[in-house]
Amino acid sequence: MKDLIYKTINPPNLVKDWLGKTIKTKREMSNGCYIISEGTIMLIDNSGPVVGLTGADKCPSCDVKPIISIKGDKEYKLMFFEFIEITGWANVSDDIPGANSEIKEYKPINPPKLISDWVNKPVISKKEIKNYFITIPAGTLMQIYAGAGKTVSVIAEKCPICGIQKRAEIKGTREEKLAYIDFINKEYEKKYESYKFKKY
Ligand SMILES: [Zn+2]
Repeated sequence: MKDLIYKTINPPNLVKDWLGKTIKTKREMSNGCYIISEGTIMLIDNSGPVVGLTGADKCPSCDVKPIISIKGDKEYKLMFFEFIEITGWANVSDDIPGANSEIKEYKPINPPKLISDWVNKPVISKKEIKNYFITIPAGTLMQIYAGAGKTVSVIAEKCPICGIQKRAEIKGTREEKLAYIDFINKEYEKKYESYKFKKY
């Protein structure tokens, strides 16, 4: 794994000259599939009234190459990112957290009776959850962040490499929803190093 060495530079005057430049996000941004954390390095692949940002590569840990677009005037766009110039790379380690780390074990608990009581509870995916162009693998620690009826929304923990937080919606009856998730004890919520969990 390598870490970027960079310096912040002034943005080119004209928005059309932003194309192909490297930026670092200044705040969290989200679309329907994930949250991109502050400090993510991305490239400008479209510049005009709408600026498109894309990750340079697929993340080796979560398999996401983030994309997002920002609409608004120049000042508004510059609230979301700053321009950087890459000056070098530092070798950190060859480990890919998440992808290679050991699978932790967990014990599922009974889900709260009312779906309205599910919000904020920690859960683990029991099987793959697909959301357009992303997949949340089985064994991913997540939290229910919204929804009390037909649809509940889940959000995964931050990817340890790129900081992406995948999200998805789970629809259907209570039983259909529970085919995708296991509830776990609060004590497991922060007691993990790895991204993957295995039921025992
Ligand atoms: Zn990632």
